[in-house]
Amino acid sequence: MIDNSKLEILKKLLNDAQCISIVTHPNPDGDAVGSSIGIYQILKQLGREVYSIVPNSFPDFLAWMEDADKCLNFEKNPQDVSDVLGRSDLILCLDFNSISRLNGMGDVVKATSAPKVLIDHHLYPEDDFILQFSELSVSSTCELVYHIIKGLDYQSLFTIGAAEALYAGIMTDTGSFSYSSSNPATFHVVADLLGLDIDKDKIHQAIYNTFSEERMRLMGYCLNEKMVVFREHKTAYIALTLKELNRFKHRSGDTEGLVNLPLSIKDVNFSVLFTEQTDGNVKLSLRSKGEFSVNEFSRKYFYGGGHKNAAGGRIQMKLPEVIKYFEICVRENADKIVKSI
Ligand code: 5GP
Ligand code: MN
Repeated sequence: MIDNSKLEILKKLLNDAQCISIVTHPNPDGDAVGSSIGIYQILKQLGREVYSIVPNSFPDFLAWMEDADKCLNFEKNPQDVSDVLGRSDLILCLDFNSISRLNGMGDVVKATSAPKVLIDHHLYPEDDFILQFSELSVSSTCELVYHIIKGLDYQSLFTIGAAEALYAGIMTDTGSFSYSSSNPATFHVVADLLGLDIDKDKIHQAIYNTFSEERMRLMGYCLNEKMVVFREHKTAYIALTLKELNRFKHRSGDTEGLVNLPLSIKDVNFSVLFTEQTDGNVKLSLRSKGEFSVNEFSRKYFYGGGHKNAAGGRIQMKLPEVIKYFEICVRENADKIVKSI
């Protein structure tokens, strides 16, 4: 699956680098943190000085991963992280496709002279990298990392911690192996990881059954009082204000998964979650069933992107205006949404 000549270049870059940084996207999810920790643990064993860097905090339900506490947080320690990036000989960029996605940390990464290598599964990678492992066919960056580690002949370096982190990323990015993004190769990788004696039940428990009471109530509130369904356009959305998020004592990760809920309705093909942000932006999470591409939709109207069936975006507008604008965008795309499956 992966080009051998690219693997050879990566091996040489890894051999030549003494200090290696691993960076991933803001609001890191299971795939972002899992792939970072998976690679971190392998490279540590090669005797390198390795840093796993996140632009901002990740949710508590990912904190059980081994070495999660060693991740450096740019938002909390911008100076320390900038120093580390400045003296890195190599920067591995995981689970995003353009350095501009890193917001403020992107400027620091861009300013370094270190070669940057992309390991990712999003559409349309940008030209910011000297070497790209951009595989759209894999379910997740974690799955791709597994193939790369094997391709580099480092499989003997798999620790239980690395295998658990990669499994967690595949599990979350595939909606527990249910989305169309998983394929036979995904299940082979999962079988190999399970063969390393990881505790999959513990991982499932840690990720899906550790919600706060407030988070569960937020979910009920969203479904009962906030979900708007446009039957005619097979579209649904949930819009949450900062006041509502505060009322439910919102913490990082609490809104994750909410966008998927309306898709369980028989005739809903497109679902969007809008959340008001403290910086005056509105953040969008977009999901679809079938052929309608939320990646294209978000790129066209909401400065975002992602995958065909899962994307994100943001826009600087007041929430009620965003909703009006969204309704226009939906009408423009009604045919594609309705005929998506
Ligand atoms: P989520 O809705 O879970 O935040 O994101 C869904 C998918 O879209 C993820 O794969 C995420 O990396 C990607 N994504 C989220 N926000 C953005 C964005 O602003 N730009 C791009 N290009 N991708 C995004
Ligand atoms: Mn991913």
